[in-house]
Formats: sequence, C-alpha cells, structure tokens
Amino acid sequence: MGESVKHLFITGGVVSSLGKGITAASVALLLKQRGYNVFLQKLDPYLNVDPGTMSPYQHGEVYVTEDGAETDLDLGHYERFANVTCTKQSNYTTGRIYSAVIQRERMGGYLGGTVQVVPHVTDEIKNAILSCSDSGADIVITEIGGTAGDIESSPFLEALRQLRVELGPEKAVFLHLTLLPFLNASGELKTKPAQQSASIMRSIGIIPDVLICRTEVPMEEEHFKKLSLFCSVPRTAVIEERDVSDSIYEVPVELAKQGLDSLILKKFNLPENQLDLTEWEAMVSRAINPDCGEVRIAVVGKYMALRDAYKSVFEALSHGAVDQKLDLKIECIEAEDLQTGDLSEYFDGVDGILVPGGFGYRGLDGKIEAVKYARENNIPFFGICLGMQCVAIDAARNVAGLSDANSLEFDEDTPHPVISLMDEQKNVVNKGGTMRLGAFPCVLKDGSKAREAYGVSEVSERHRHRFEFNNEYREILDEAGLVLTGLSPDKSLVEVVERPDHKWFVAVQFHPEFKSRPLNPHPLFRSFVEAAFRGKRK
Ligand code: GLN
Repeated sequence: MGESVKHLFITGGVVSSLGKGITAASVALLLKQRGYNVFLQKLDPYLNVDPGTMSPYQHGEVYVTEDGAETDLDLGHYERFANVTCTKQSNYTTGRIYSAVIQRERMGGYLGGTVQVVPHVTDEIKNAILSCSDSGADIVITEIGGTAGDIESSPFLEALRQLRVELGPEKAVFLHLTLLPFLNASGELKTKPAQQSASIMRSIGIIPDVLICRTEVPMEEEHFKKLSLFCSVPRTAVIEERDVSDSIYEVPVELAKQGLDSLILKKFNLPENQLDLTEWEAMVSRAINPDCGEVRIAVVGKYMALRDAYKSVFEALSHGAVDQKLDLKIECIEAEDLQTGDLSEYFDGVDGILVPGGFGYRGLDGKIEAVKYARENNIPFFGICLGMQCVAIDAARNVAGLSDANSLEFDEDTPHPVISLMDEQKNVVNKGGTMRLGAFPCVLKDGSKAREAYGVSEVSERHRHRFEFNNEYREILDEAGLVLTGLSPDKSLVEVVERPDHKWFVAVQFHPEFKSRPLNPHPLFRSFVEAAFRGKRK
C-alpha cells in the first residue's frame, strides 16, 4: 500500500512568514478539486516535542486536531482550505523526531551502532513522511517550517534530498516559496534574494521544480526569465503569488489562474482532470462583496497584540459573516485594559462580545468584566473554554453573591471553586500533551440556542483544557440564571451553558473554532454573528 503515492514538498526561502502554510493549503484545495485525495503535513524544526507548551506570543495559536494533537496553526489553514482532517501524523517537530530516536536507542534499537543524524535522524524523518502514504491519499503535501539555510532545518532538507533519489522525480516534487522584495527608493522588484535562496537549495542537493514568488506588485516578463535562468527552473514553473487585498481565500483562485495545479500534476505524471472551484469562487465573491451590512464583534483576550494567537476564532467569525454577506469588523480588546473605568467606551457600537480560550491569571478580571457587561447590557455573547469558565465565575460572583468565587487555576484557596481541576487531571504532573485533548461528544438540551443552531442533539467538538465546571455549583449557578444546555453523554461534564433570558448568550467548554470551514461555517459562530447583526444597537 502507498506505493503509488506522490509527495509534494514545500520549502521556503529568504524570510519566514512568507505564507507557506496558505500556499500548501491552497495547492491542496486545487488538487482536491481536481479529484485527488490529499493529506497534509508540516515538519517544524524546533526542539519542543509539540507547540502545546509554547506561549501564543512565541508561536501563535495551538491548533488541536480531532485525535487530540496540539499542533502548528498552519494545520488550521490546511483543514479550512482543503476541508481535510489532520491527525497526529500531520505535525512533526525536531523534538518529536529526536525523542523517538533517543527512545529507540535506549531500548537497544540500534544495538552496536553509533547513532547519527545521517542516517538515523534522517531515517526517522523519512518514516514520518512516508507513513502518511497509509492515509489513503493520492498526494501527500509536506511543508517544511523555517527558511532554507537555517541550521535547524538542515536534517529535514537532507531527508528530502534522500527521498527525491529514493522515490524518483515523478513521485517527489519540490515547490520553493520565495520573496521578491520591492524597493521603494528605486521603484524596483528585486530577484536576487530569490536567486540566492534557490542557490542554497541547490547546495543542499535540491533543485526546486516550481518557484513561487511572493510579491506585492505584479512581476514583469524580465523577472520570470531571470528567475528561470538563475534558479534552473523552467519559465513556465515560475509562478507569481501576489498579495491579495480582501480575503486569503482568493489565493488558490489566483494560483489556479496561473496553472499551478496542472503544472504539479504534469510533474507527477497524473491526469489533470477538471478543476471545480464553483462553490469556492462563490464564497470568495461573498467575502469580497459583503453588501448585507456591517457587524462589529469585540474579542476580549490577553494576546491581542498578535492576531495569530486567535487565528481560528477570527477565521470562524469571518466564516459566519461571509456566509451572511456581512462586513465583519473585529475589535481586539486587551482584557487587562478592562479592569478600570467605564466599559461602555470600549464596547460602544459593538454588536457582539466574544471571550476566547486562554491560560493564566493575566487579564482574567477584564474577561469577567466583559462577560458581566454583555450580560447586563443584553449584548450577544459567546464564551469559549476559558471564556465559559469566566461566565461561571461572573454568575457566581456577580449574581449569586459568592464574591470570592474563582477557578482553582487562579486561586487554589478559593472558598468557591466554581471551576475545578478535572478528576483525570489530579495526578498529572507533566505539562506536555496531558490536557483533555481532542474530540469528545456532547448532548444538547432541546429548546436551547445551541440545539437550535446545530440542528442536531448530539455533537462532537475538540477540547483543550485541564479545568472544568464544578458540578457542586450546578444548582447555585442555575439559580443565578445559567442553564446547562450541553453535557457529556454520561452527564458528568458541563460542556455548554446559556442564559435563556438574554438575546444570545452561549458559552462552551470546547473549541468550536477548530471545526469551522469557509464553505461550512460553524453553526455556533454563524448563529452568534447572526444574533449580533440582528440585535444591532446602532
Ligand atoms: N485554562 C483553562 C483550562 O485549562 C482553559 C483552557 C482554554 O481556554 N483552552 O481549563
């Protein structure tokens, strides 16, 4: 099995943050819409075993897969663009590769041998790539994090070089993403950095098959010719990827116009089939022409300076808005700012308030203030994970009168731990990969907003948390107006709470944002945006 699987490798040069993830996701969408099954994978050259222990300021959001892996946010692009389901195999780091090698060494797996980067680490990398061939995919797309020339990424690129030899050029195709900077002073688009990054790839032993050029301004024929000549890439395989102005979902449409997908299929010697982007283009057109009105959503979090920290939340909001042709304006509010003064200056003209997930005490009081403001002013409210825990704390402190109520995460001595440590977490010592992770079922109460939005009574959603709603406070918080509208099937875990006396007030312990897709917006995000628009105050 997996013998005929084709591998597409995506590397990057010149600078980081070039958009390799969006390019990989776009290519995946195009190949899928030409009738191929795709599997996506990202190799990250850092030493953490996964990004779960990193601050969002370091790394952006931690994306959670169905099977409970804590992964790079690029996997979110993969799932959203190509509508695929990523797995634990979709993200490997240097740390994960090395720990497998070292574990095997300790078990005597290399008995008698000296364990080395080549071949042992590179073999482990190749296994991580080749094992994706069992996913049922026709084409496996592997994105390599980092930039060509980084010390850290060299074992990965060496593994790819070996794979090209072992698989042959029809089964291993290389796509190199590079940057053409525009120099304002001379009014010129420069190709030299791109030439140099292709030259670094050649020195590693990899000649890219396709060169994709990120640029702010249109490329001229001379640029295509020069890059073709100096980078050893045919003229037809030099592709322009110009910045898009309105929606990242335009990227695949633009790449398709230049024939990137048929070029790749030719390299693989696969039939081109018909490309069907009808639904995608209709969605892009809704995104570009949001002519049904404006909706303003305030997101109150603690990493607001870095939008990537809440990537999937912002995307899911936009899916809900695009579906209704609404012009979404997101107001990013630093939770710490909300601790003093009159909050109406922050929320003036806001149609909905969302408190997303998070960890740690900083900004907690501001988030609770945001919940209180939404509750008292009947503004549509959506709480996610820590956002739901803040809802419970607000109800306990500000409605039930338990002024010292808190989560055990923030105050181990609180007399009213309305949020407590989950039983399964009580003996957990290690921090990495030990939370309640991945998809779990939830049963919804008839007549609730959640039940109405989903249209079904049992759903499955992804989780990433250690703390939970304390069942000892179910009655007290019910009297404080919080109805438990979603429970685990055995009724032991509270998954959704609502305020029925409110326009739209839903808070969930899980992370619905990970399952929203541009062509299939998440029901709760769609319903929240709709309620916010319907309830517009101005
Ligand atoms: N810090 C909280 C917990 O561990 C919430 C986690 C989150 O928002 N993802 O339960």
